[in-house]
Amino acid sequence: MFTLIELPYAMEALAPVISAQTLSFHHGKHLQAYVDNLNKLLPGSEYEGITLEEIVGKAPVGPVFNNAGQILNHELYFTQFKPVSEVVQGPEGALAAQIEKQWDSIEAFKAEFEAKGVGLFGSGWVWLSADADGNLVITQEQGASNPVQKGLKPLLTFDVWEHAYYLDYQNRRAAHLAALWQIVDWKVIEKRYEVEGVLQR
Ligand code: MN
Repeated sequence: MFTLIELPYAMEALAPVISAQTLSFHHGKHLQAYVDNLNKLLPGSEYEGITLEEIVGKAPVGPVFNNAGQILNHELYFTQFKPVSEVVQGPEGALAAQIEKQWDSIEAFKAEFEAKGVGLFGSGWVWLSADADGNLVITQEQGASNPVQKGLKPLLTFDVWEHAYYLDYQNRRAAHLAALWQIVDWKVIEKRYEVEGVLQR
């Protein structure tokens, strides 16, 4: 059985970048539905008792994959933000050095990341991931897909499903993605890269 993750901040803490209303629907309705759906699908299946990453890595596209993928994606998404009242610091350390090595500047990296989010047709996610050697890659993933399917370690993601922004930004996906940098908790992303990530495996 999977359970809905608790948000590590108050429902209104990300406004106006993400309003309390959007966050409430996104977490309490959309993610809750994926959790409920997966819990109904798992009993008696070959996917019972394994992790989300394992399900996403082996299940064919279908109801189990879609719901497990969306839970994994949203858990990484919701836990990478911090309140707008806190100062954004970073990226720093090994992650910042690698971004500057590959993109020359953080600004150039952000521009490519936003462009790939804007350019993703339909519903999906734009991701920053690391390969087994610590090299970074930006990928567009359709629907419920996740970079773990490609053997990559997911670090940072922007959700470009309309449910992530439509109440606040309507059709202005680009404006939403540009605003999200204000709430990225780079300490979380750095930890995914340096501590929990590929540099140790
Ligand atoms: Mn979503």
